[in-house]
Amino acid sequence: MVQIVYLNGAFLPLEEARVPVLDRGFIFGDGVYEVIPAYSRHPFRLAEHLQRLQHSLDGIRLFNPHSDVEWHELVRGLIARNEGEDQYLYLHITRGVARRDHAFPQDTPPTVFMMSSPLAPAAPALREHGVVAITAPDNRWLRCDIKAISLLPNVLLRQLAVDAGAAETVLLRDGFLSEGAASNIFVVKDGVLLAPPKDHLMLPGITYDVVLELAAAHGIPSRVAPVAESTLRGADEIWLTSSTREVQAITRLDGSPVGTGEPGPLFRKMDQFYQDYKATIMRQPSP
Ligand code: PMP
Repeated sequence: MVQIVYLNGAFLPLEEARVPVLDRGFIFGDGVYEVIPAYSRHPFRLAEHLQRLQHSLDGIRLFNPHSDVEWHELVRGLIARNEGEDQYLYLHITRGVARRDHAFPQDTPPTVFMMSSPLAPAAPALREHGVVAITAPDNRWLRCDIKAISLLPNVLLRQLAVDAGAAETVLLRDGFLSEGAASNIFVVKDGVLLAPPKDHLMLPGITYDVVLELAAAHGIPSRVAPVAESTLRGADEIWLTSSTREVQAITRLDGSPVGTGEPGPLFRKMDQFYQDYKATIMRQPSP
């Protein structure tokens, strides 16, 4: 089946989608994006993703080209036109096509692009044994709460992990944990789930919120507060979270085992809570 994407008002095959080279996304990375999973064709936490999209658009002073009702229609339209019960949607809005000038163009319509890709469940070995991560200094800008398409620092930081045969780069700024290159990071110490606060130094993850909500619902104590590098390095468990990777245990950090070196007991519980929670979404009536 052909992959169908959405571009500026039309659904069309990916191969036919074209953007002019003067698009400010191409020239400046001047835009924002969202990634939304859909399970059994139900978009997951769509309202929250659209809220974060609005926050990102406000952060770069770009008008939202669609109402929430329109976004819902577009999202459902894209899911319906693509293969796979589980998909992840990529939404991308740039400041449009204009003569190259750093300053905002006047009266230029934004470019709106959406695509869907198949979403595969995590490999059983990964769930069983966790993943390897490395650390690196967080050298990104100070508005990491904006989901900006200009991802060069994240790209370089993530490649460090790939070069080291690791699954993620955990970022440290001024002696504190910020997040992963493409994920949020949680730490477990003495039975308490620790998470850095949502501020300008990290992306407010949708999965991050789900994990904290599930912890509260199931009586797992949690504390949202800055996490020192020493706490990270002395952690009993470390988890990464993201919409496409869900919750994964980091079982080696910079070559040393985290806790026992195997996914810990709280991870096993949270992974189950997360799968059960997803199942409730999938059981809802057809979208
Ligand atoms: N931080 C960064 C830098 C990310 O790119 C992502 C998403 N890939 C996340 C955190 C996790 O956010 P979410 O749970 O909404 O996918």
